[in-house]
Formats: sequence, structure tokens, C-alpha cells
Amino acid sequence: MHEGLAEADVVVAGGGPAGVGAALAAARAGARVVCCERYGFLGGNFTAAAVGTICGLYRRREDGGFDHVVGGVAREVADRLAEAGAGFGPVPFKETAVFVYTPWAAKRLFDRLLGAQDRLELLLHAPVADAIVRDGRIEALVVATKRGLRAVTGKVFVDCTGDADLAFFAGAPTEVGPPGERQHASMQFLMEQVDSDAAIAATARLGEIVAAHGAHLSRDGGPSSRPCGRASSWER
Ligand SMILES: Cc1cc2nc3c(=O)[nH]c(=O)nc-3n(C[C@H](O)[C@H](O)[C@H](O)COP(=O)(O)OP(=O)(O)OC[C@H]3O[C@@H](n4cnc5c(N)ncnc54)[C@H](O)[C@@H]3O)c2cc1C
Repeated sequence: MHEGLAEADVVVAGGGPAGVGAALAAARAGARVVCCERYGFLGGNFTAAAVGTICGLYRRREDGGFDHVVGGVAREVADRLAEAGAGFGPVPFKETAVFVYTPWAAKRLFDRLLGAQDRLELLLHAPVADAIVRDGRIEALVVATKRGLRAVTGKVFVDCTGDADLAFFAGAPTEVGPPGERQHASMQFLMEQVDSDAAIAATARLGEIVAAHGAHLSRDGGPSSRPCGRASSWER
């Protein structure tokens, strides 16, 4: 067994949207919680990939309006971002609607939400590198730290790595979908201080312009605007 780093009732691997929800819900229910995140900030793809919209919060009514159909931490995050002027919704999209938000505001919000929990210990820069399994149960996960491998023991473990890392390390069967059926490896990007009208008009030719430079876009979601606290910001 490796030297102990932390111990809790609930150990959450990964601090993306799922990990934030699991860690917060467990701490609020009275459990002692440790959340291990490999990066130096929370949010996973919600912040790191600048995703920028929350899908799945709403259902379209017959009269064309929208109802919230997801509550809990997801609703709380959307409401807190809206209160801070860092998000708005519902914004109609295909058959339903999305909530648009500012990724860097979400990073700060997640820090505040988890930081407010006395029973929750957050370990950043803490990649989970292995699991210690005894009699078919996870006893500890192993975190790679600057001082070497350390154990985080717990009663319950929640795999929120997005890649089933903990399940894999624990020996559970995992599978990867075939190429073409996975999430596009796309990345949103942000531009500031642009001439909005000219930029929106030019986006129709973006693929052509990129092709002229010998590259291509694997996915073209179109432009959208979002609150950012500064003028003239557009996201694609
Ligand atoms: C380009 C792109 C666009 C998207 N667009 C949208 C959208 O518009 N709207 C929408 O609702 N959804 C969108 N999604 C999907 C959305 O981002 C995911 O559904 C969501 O992020 C999943 O959350 P998660 O917490 O399960 O996983 P992730 O967001 O992947 O979070 C996993 C977390 O675990 C950490 N982690 C991973 N491995 C380890 C490890 N071994 N040890 C410690 N930590 C680890 C990661 O650093 C990360 O913080 C998009 C995704 C991408 C990539």
C-alpha cells in the first residue's frame, strides 16, 4: 500500500461537471468527500474545452416555450451563472434549447461551490493513476503527486473521469466506441474585439478560408455570442 494522502467516505475521481455534481451532492448530504482532479482547475470539458452551452436542461412545450426538466446541481450552476451575468437561457437550438455560459466564469463558480463545503477536500493536479482492489472492492485509488504515488482511501468511489479511468484501473470491463461514433474531437475558440457584422458575414466562408490554408474543420457549429464582461466577443 502506498503512503496515505487522504481518506473519506466518498472519493470522486475527476472534477468535471459529473465530478462537481457528485462531490457537492455527497458533501451536502453529510459525507466526507475527497475529489481528485488531474488539472489545476475544475470543470472538465465544461471549462477546458470552452464548451459554452449546457444541453439537456429544457424541454419544449406545445406552446413553444421551455420548461426546466433538470434540477439539482446542474440547475444551480445555470442559475448562479445567470445571476452573475455570465450565462443566459433558454436559447432555442434544434428541437430544444441550450443555456449559454462563459467558461471562465464557470471555473470560478465551481471553485466557490466546492470551496464552501467544509467536508469536501479538493485535490488539484492529482491524476488518478491506479486503484487498489481487495476482494472485488476498491479500497483506495492511487494519485500521482510530486512526491510520488499516494493512496486516497474511501468507502465509496465515483468514477467521473469521463474516460472510465478508475473503472479500468480497478479491472472492470471497459470499451471504446469505434471511430466515427465518438464525440467529435472539436474545440471551440473565442475571438474578441472583432467587427461583429463583418465577422458573422465571414463565418459562412470560414471553411473555404481554412481550406485555402491547407487545413479543414472537422465540425462547423456556427458562431454564437456570449456574455464575457468585455465588448465584441464571439465564439465559434
Ligand atoms: C468539443 C466539445 C463540445 C461539446 N459541446 C457541448 C455542448 O455544447 N453542450 C453540452 O451540454 N455538452 C457538450 N459537450 C459534452 C460535455 O462537455 C460533456 O458531456 C461533459 O463535459 C461530461 O462531463 P464529465 O464530468 O462526465 O466529463 P469531463 O468533462 O470529461 O470531465 C472529466 C474530468 O475528469 C478529469 N480526469 C480525467 N481523467 C482523470 C484521472 N485519471 N485522474 C483525475 N482526473 C481525471 C478531467 O481532467 C476532467 O476534469 C461537448 C464536449 C466537447 C468535447
